[in-house]
Amino acid sequence: MTLFEKICAREIPATIVHEDEHCICFKDIAPQAPVHLLLIPRKPIPRIALAGDGDQALLGHLLLTAGKIAREQGFAEDGFRIVINNGRDGGEAVPHLHLHLLAGRQLEWPPG
Ligand code: 5GP
Repeated sequence: MTLFEKICAREIPATIVHEDEHCICFKDIAPQAPVHLLLIPRKPIPRIALAGDGDQALLGHLLLTAGKIAREQGFAEDGFRIVINNGRDGGEAVPHLHLHLLAGRQLEWPPG
């Protein structure tokens, strides 16, 4: 079981800000911005490169849910960033697909 599956199963505590039948969103334990949320599918897809055609609706749901959370949490208007790290060079540490939602400060580009 991945770390994030354990969070889904409530075996590891997290500050959950949204959940539905397909996904769960919680605060990152080491925030890189004033708002740093992780949005994950309940289905343990390891990373975006391993998502399949059958995951199309789920991936769309994750993006739509990210926008909904941004509106509900009040950071949609000022702006935010969605990041998905994939594999070694992408900086992926947890092999369970997750969208980082970063907000609350001016984010820089290009990323480090
Ligand atoms: P990645 O580097 O895989 O894209 O992102 C993994 C993220 O998970 C990191 O931002 C890290 O801070 C976060 N993280 C790691 N362990 C935990 C944990 O136990 N709880 C929470 N809420 N976040 C975690």
